[in-house]
Amino acid sequence: MPELPEVETIRRGLKNYIINKKIRKIKVLCEKSFINAPPKGIIKGIRRFGKALVIDLDSGWSLMVHLRMTGQLIYDGKERYAGGHPSDNFIDQLPNRQTRVIVELENGTLYFNDQRKFGFIKSFKTDQVENDPFIKKLGPEPWQMTKEEFYEKLQRHKNSPIKALLLDQTIICGLGNIYADETLFAAKIHPKTKAGLITKAKSNMILGVAERVMNLSIAAGGSTLKDYVKADGSRGDYLDKFALVYNKTGQVCPICGKAKIEKIRVAGRGTHICPRCQVLLEDSTTTNLKQASQNDKKQREIK
Ligand SMILES: [Zn+2]
Repeated sequence: MPELPEVETIRRGLKNYIINKKIRKIKVLCEKSFINAPPKGIIKGIRRFGKALVIDLDSGWSLMVHLRMTGQLIYDGKERYAGGHPSDNFIDQLPNRQTRVIVELENGTLYFNDQRKFGFIKSFKTDQVENDPFIKKLGPEPWQMTKEEFYEKLQRHKNSPIKALLLDQTIICGLGNIYADETLFAAKIHPKTKAGLITKAKSNMILGVAERVMNLSIAAGGSTLKDYVKADGSRGDYLDKFALVYNKTGQVCPICGKAKIEKIRVAGRGTHICPRCQVLLEDSTTTNLKQASQNDKKQREIK
C-alpha cells in the first residue's frame, strides 16, 4: 500500500506532465472506481491531503484520487511516469485488465489502474474539497504540528501503545506501518510503550525522526517506475534505500550490531523491532506489582 511519501512522490512527478493540460475525455471502465460525473477542464494543480491526491481543474471541479491497496497512476505520453502500487503495469502496454479509468489529455493519457478496486476517483466542486469527510478528519502531518501539540496528544491517550497512536491518522497524519516502525526504531522506543510513559524529550524526538524518515523516503523517490526497473533492467525495491528495520526480520540490527531484528504484533500490525535497542518501558504500577509478587515468592521460599 502506498504511504504518504510515495503519494507525495507521485504528486511531484505527475505535476511535470499534467499541469496546464486540457482533459479531452474521461473514460470510466469500472463504475465502482469513479464517483460522480467526470468533469471537464484544464488541469491547474495537484495537491495532496494525507494519502489522497486532488487534481484541480480551471472549471471549478476537482478530482480526488485514492490509491488504497493496489491503485496506480500512470501517465503515458512522450515518456512514461508511473507511481503507486508497484507492478508490471508500470512497464506494460496500457490499457489492460486492471485499467479502471482513462483520462485523455492533450499531451498523453493518464491511466488509473487498480487490481483490487479498493481505490477510486471522485469528482466534486473545488470549493468543497476541504469539506470532504475524508479530508476533514485528517490530523496534521508531522511538519504541520508543533512539538507541544504532539506531546499533548500523546498525553491524552496515556494507555495506548505508542505505535497505535502513530498509526492513528486523526492524531498524526501520514505514518503508515513502515514509517511507524522506522520512526520508533530510530528513536529507540519499543512500539508497545504506553504513551503516558513517553517523556517530552522522547516525544520531541519521535516527531523529528518521523519527519526525517518521511523526507528521506520522498528524496529516495518512493515507489515509482524509476525504482521499479533499475538501469540494468533488474527490479528494484525502493525500501532498501532507507528502511532499517521494516521487513528485515532475522538480520543483524544496523545500530547495535548485536541483536537480530524481530517481528512482533502491535496494534494488530506486523511490527519490526530490535529487542536490544528498543527496550519496553513499564509503568511503575506494573513494575511494583511484579516486585511485590517476587517479594511474596521470596518470602514463601524463606518460610
Ligand atoms: Zn539494535
